[in-house]
Amino acid sequence: MRKDSFKILKKAINNSKTISIITHWSPDGDAIGSSLALYQFLKYLDKNVKVIIPNAFPDFLEWMPGSKQILNFQEEEKKCENWLNKSDLIFTLDFNSYKRIEKLGDILVKTSAPKVMIDHHQQPDDYAKYYFHDVNACSTCELIFDLICGLGAKKTIDKKIAACIYTGLMTDTGSFRYPSVNSNTHTIIAELLKTGIIPSEIHGAVYDNYSIDRLKLLGYALSEKMKIIDGYPVAYFCLSNKELKQFNFQKGDTEGLVNYPFAIKGIKVCALFNESENYVKISFRSKDKIDVNAFARKYFNGGGHINAAGGKSDLSLNETEINFIKQVKTLF
Ligand code: 5GP
Ligand code: MN
Repeated sequence: MRKDSFKILKKAINNSKTISIITHWSPDGDAIGSSLALYQFLKYLDKNVKVIIPNAFPDFLEWMPGSKQILNFQEEEKKCENWLNKSDLIFTLDFNSYKRIEKLGDILVKTSAPKVMIDHHQQPDDYAKYYFHDVNACSTCELIFDLICGLGAKKTIDKKIAACIYTGLMTDTGSFRYPSVNSNTHTIIAELLKTGIIPSEIHGAVYDNYSIDRLKLLGYALSEKMKIIDGYPVAYFCLSNKELKQFNFQKGDTEGLVNYPFAIKGIKVCALFNESENYVKISFRSKDKIDVNAFARKYFNGGGHINAAGGKSDLSLNETEINFIKQVKTLF
């Protein structure tokens, strides 16, 4: 459901001069891609605009146009707060709840500017004035493409904007292979390619830039850490803080790891548990109608999409694993 019309959104943008764009904690390709695409677009409209992120993004997204202008709340708290307070309009991209931006949410909740949620996650919270939300969109970048076209500004989609949108479409669809991909996805891609972007270059920039440690961590996880639950089509990894440190873990280094066990015939649910200093960060993936969004919400303080969700646990890594083994059986 894309609740608010282009006419209403156009008016909201036209009436605003200073604008913020916020995306979620641990921003991924869709988060940064959609934010920077909208950023460039609003710049063309001559707006004072800044992208604000709650924490750093992975270095494989540093090549993206506009990335140097992003404000990281963890590094420039006061500057971010000031910008939010003077904003006439605040876009929140690729997340559906203040919980997803951690401490930045406490500041956002106090700001007076109307919020525009642009997102494709299940069950959005009710904080925004305007909604451009669709769970059937393969990515927030798809929504940004539709928004720009809907505002009658398709001509502004140049190589820079196209590269950003392409990145989010690519990363959120597992390089165009998830069930969320349909003919519309490819129609958008065809339009983006007309700007002159080169898909193989973008793919290479995002995926072919592992550090040696990252590839070794992947190999270690697959050969030493993958477990299959006896009698269930479930595979998972638990990586302790110590193990991650052994491989000089950097943000984004385990992205994609959770999906590997799907290569095993019959596997329907995969999970990854990464222990950090303060909590265990969890990723869930599923096939078909198995709903890991509901599962993450119910048992792991999280959410996401039906087939891709995340969550957190304050228990120890071992207790989290025991809890997961118990609860995951309820899915079958
Ligand atoms: P990932 O496993 O790649 O971190 O996230 C998978 C999906 O679940 C993404 O769409 C992400 O936005 C969402 N997600 C990840 N972690 C959380 C969380 O802690 N809470 C909620 N609500 N969604 C999450
Ligand atoms: Mn997304």
